[in-house]
Parts: sequence; structure tokens; C-alpha cells
Amino acid sequence: MSEKKTNFKSLNNYAEDVYKCTKCGLCQSVCPVYKATGLETSVSRGKFTLLNGIINGKLKFNKKVAKNLELCLGCKACYDFCPSGISAEEIISAARHESAKVNGIGFIKGFILANFKSNFRLGLLKMILDAYRFIFSFFEGFIPKNLAGIFKKPKLIINFLNLFNSQLKEHIKYNKLKPLKQPSSINIIYFPGCINNYVNSSVKNAVLMVLEKNGFKVNIPKNFTCCGIAARSAGDYKSFSELAENNLNQIPDNVDYIITDCASCGSVWEFYPDFVRQELVNKARLLTEKTININKFLAERELYIPENAEINKKITYHDPCHLKRFQKVFEEPRKILKKIQGIDFREMKDSDVCCGAAGTFCISQPEISKAISSEKAQNIINTKADIVCTSCAGCKIGLSQGLTEKNSTIPIYHPVELLAELYLIDEK
Ligand code: SF4
Ligand code: SF4
Repeated sequence: MSEKKTNFKSLNNYAEDVYKCTKCGLCQSVCPVYKATGLETSVSRGKFTLLNGIINGKLKFNKKVAKNLELCLGCKACYDFCPSGISAEEIISAARHESAKVNGIGFIKGFILANFKSNFRLGLLKMILDAYRFIFSFFEGFIPKNLAGIFKKPKLIINFLNLFNSQLKEHIKYNKLKPLKQPSSINIIYFPGCINNYVNSSVKNAVLMVLEKNGFKVNIPKNFTCCGIAARSAGDYKSFSELAENNLNQIPDNVDYIITDCASCGSVWEFYPDFVRQELVNKARLLTEKTININKFLAERELYIPENAEINKKITYHDPCHLKRFQKVFEEPRKILKKIQGIDFREMKDSDVCCGAAGTFCISQPEISKAISSEKAQNIINTKADIVCTSCAGCKIGLSQGLTEKNSTIPIYHPVELLAELYLIDEK
């Protein structure tokens, strides 16, 4: 597919925004990467200085510039503080796209994105993980605790395992619950995203159970692929366009809602209209308007909360950047959690600061990512919570990294998983 047929903005289209930067430095006070590195080129102001040079033809997209462009989580924290109202996230994505034409996107990112693009490869990953979970649950208790110490694990493997620690056990297994009402006539498509579909189905199971219990019939098209957020962030616009078009083609026009549970997946739909061919632009606009996060969908409805079931736990909540800043959803998950009887809700410090995962950032910049995750984990631990909730599959990876580094076993759940757990207690 030719990029010429799509409407996305190139770096030159952002020239005016880049010039608007007054160099006031306010972005420094909120940028997690700047806080971790102290490097001027890691914050939006520094990147705009570099990009100014590129736009004026004084600098070229060499490896050094590409490396500096890597240093952004796309968290949009700077946008909230910028008096000139500049969105570094969009500009940096456009700059990465131009840079990728010269420097490529790198082997590791290329490998990860190739896997996200293939449902066959993701299916194989699911088989491996399901087998691991089966074997693990079968032998749990028989494996000597110090077995892990026998093997000297290289740092790379330790880092990788820490990222996915929280995904290794399935919290909610699908159970058919007794529906409370006649099925609603609302036509819902559920987009579970690739992590919930292929890595750990717990959140997907919980979403289906909670919606069914509350009388909503849900469809999941068989051929949904990854939402494409990692491809867009890496500047691989060709892959992003292909994924966006495939997902749009799976959905009928007469759908009422497209429900997403993952903050990252939900946030990227707003970019679909600019990245698809002309004939799909109207459909993309229509479907983007119908996309809604599960927390918002449930908070706006009369949700069943059983009177005789409770979860006696201390809970804290981490705000995903892609939910709070991109979709303006932050009160809704708290509203849901506070409705559950027995829950002692505790706000953590800086609940809306990025978790440090940011897609492939945690793999390409492991040390900076760990420093950011570590601070987040400490804020979670300080609340003395039994459980930390979040609404993003990517944030689960960042929180898992930080908590594992701090030897904490606090579980990480989606608010909907707790609702499903409550319903299961209710039906016992
Ligand atoms: S806050 Fe905005 S205007 Fe100020 S230095 Fe940062 S990017 Fe530039
Ligand atoms: S989007 Fe986030 S990581 Fe990137 S420059 Fe802004 S504050 Fe820093």
C-alpha cells in the first residue's frame, strides 16, 4: 500500500509547532525521561531544537539524532504543561517515521513489530504460554524453590522475565455467569488487543463475563489484529496503516460501540482516519467516535453490584497515560472500584506518571525504563495496597518490571477483573 494515499502529517507539516517552542523549559519538570537521564535531548524542548535543525536543513537524520528520538515515552505529560500547546508525542512519531526511512527501525523493534503483525506467530506464542501455565500449575509445589538459582540467567533474560512476570498466571478464567437481564439490543464489538488475546486472556475473560452478566451481547471478530500502536510509535507507518485497515474491515457499519479494555489500543483508534486509504476514511471516523473504554462504558450504566459479596482488599490505581491524557478517562475506573464492597481504595503519589514501559521503550531503553518503573513501584508499595489496578496491558508490563525489581509480589489487575471476581463470589 502506498503511503501517498493516506493523510498523515509529515515532520514538515509540524514545522510551525516546532517553531512555537519558546524554550521556557516547563516540560522538564514533568518529563519522566528527563528526570531519569537529565539529558536536554530527552525532553521535548531539546528534541524540538534538533528537529528545528532538521527542518531547516542544517542537520540530517543520522544515527545520533535517531538515538535521541528514541528517548520519549509518548506519555503526553509535557503537552499538559506546555504554554504553547505543542504535542511532542505526535511530532516525535512523525520524526521517527522520517528517521526510519534513513536509519531503519532497528533489529529488535523490527522483530517485535513483525510478530505483532502476524496472528499466526501470536497464536504460536499463546500455545507456548498456555503450555507453560499448564505445566507450571501442575508442578507448582514440587519445584524446589532454589531451582532458578541453578541456572545463571543472563541480565537480558532477567529483564525480559521481569517485564512479563505479571502475565504468567491467569487470574480470571472464563465462566458462564447467570445473566441478570434479557440481552440488550445494543450491538457491541469488543476489541481485546493482542496481549489479552494471545498472552494472557484473564482481562478478556473478565470483560466478557461482566458484559454478559449485565445483559450485553458481545462479538469479537475473528480476524482482528494488533491495534498498531507500537508500529505508529516506532514510525513504521506502513505497518500501522495495514493493521488499521484490517481492523476497520472486520467491523460492520451498524455497530453501536467498539469496546476496548486496553488504554493503548483505545487511544490509537483516533489516528486511524489519517492513516487509511480515502475509501476507508469515513468509516474510520465513524468507528473512532464509537470506540469507548470499558471503564467509561460501565461507569455510565447501572452496573450490577451484588449486596452479599465483597472483596476485602486495599487497592490502589495507576492511570495509564493513554487513558487519562489521550481519552480523558480517569474518574471512571475509580468509580467502579469504589462501588465494590469491602474495597479500601488508596490513591498513590503521582498515579498519572508513566509506568516506564511505553511499548518497545522498555526493551530498547531498559535502564531508563527500569528507573521510571522503580519509582512507580515504590509509590505503589508506599500505599500498602494488596492489589494495584490499571487499565492497560502495556502498563501491566511496566508495573510488573518495577514491582519485580523491588521484590514485591503485589498483583496487578484490571478493574474489570475485580468485578468478575466479585460476580464469581456472588454466584458461589
Ligand atoms: S513547555 Fe513547550 S514551549 Fe516550553 S520548552 Fe517545553 S516544549 Fe517548549
Ligand atoms: S511525551 Fe513524555 S517522555 Fe516524551 S518528551 Fe513529553 S513528557 Fe517527555
